[in-house]
Amino acid sequence: MRISAKDLGWLATVDFCPRCFWIERHAKGLPYQMGFPGIFSSIDSYTKNIVERHFQRSGKLPSWLGEIGEVKRIIPVRQSEFKIVKGGVTLTGAPDLLFQRHDGSFGIVDYKTARYTGNQDSLMPVYRIQLNGYAYIAEGIGYKPVNDLYLVYFEPPYKEAYERITDAHTNHDGFEMPFTPRIHRIRKDAKEVELLLKKAWQIYSGEGPPKGLNGCNDCERLEELVGIAGL
Ligand code: SF4
Repeated sequence: MRISAKDLGWLATVDFCPRCFWIERHAKGLPYQMGFPGIFSSIDSYTKNIVERHFQRSGKLPSWLGEIGEVKRIIPVRQSEFKIVKGGVTLTGAPDLLFQRHDGSFGIVDYKTARYTGNQDSLMPVYRIQLNGYAYIAEGIGYKPVNDLYLVYFEPPYKEAYERITDAHTNHDGFEMPFTPRIHRIRKDAKEVELLLKKAWQIYSGEGPPKGLNGCNDCERLEELVGIAGL
C-alpha cells in the first residue's frame, strides 16, 4: 500500500474512520470525490520558487523566514525519490523545503496558505504527522539527523488592511496580494509515524471493511439505500 505523509496524518485526527479508510484504499474511483482546488498548490510552488531563488542569490533565506536561522544549503527534493518502505507500506511525499545547517543537521519546512490559529487548528494533527512523515523519509534516505520541523503559514490580509493594500499593490497589469508569514515549530516524533504506519497497514490488510464511527449515520443510510435498490 502507498500512502502520502499527509494522508497518514488523517489517521491521527479524532474523527478518523477506519472503515472510510479501508473503503477508499480498496475501491478505486469512488463517486462524488472532489479534487482540492489547485490554487493553493500554485501558491505553495510560487513561494518555493521565491525562497529558492532568494537563497541562490544571497546565500540566505528571506528575512521573513529569519526565525528558522542560518542555512548552509537547500537540498533539491525529487518527489520520485522521496519515499520509504516500512512493513507493507510505502510512505511518500515531498516537503516544500529541505535544508542543511552548518552543523550538518537537516531541517524541513512545509508551507500552508491559511490563517494561523496555532494548536487550535483542527488540521494541526494532519500537518504534524505530515512534517514528521517527511522527516521519517528524509532520515530513511540519508538526510539525518533532521532536527528542525517548521510549518509556515502564509496569511492573506485581513479586511481592515484592504484600503492600504489596494493603493500599494495595484498596477496596470493587475494586482498583488501580500501574505504575512507565521512560523510554527513542530516537535519531532518518529515513533508516532511508525505507530500510524502500522495502524494503516493493519486496517488496509483486514479482510473486509472494519466497523465505522459510532454515531455516524451515513453507513446505515447507505445500507438502507442498497436495500431499497435491491442490490
Ligand atoms: S461510519 Fe461514517 S465515516 Fe465511517 S465509513 Fe461510514 S460513512 Fe464513512
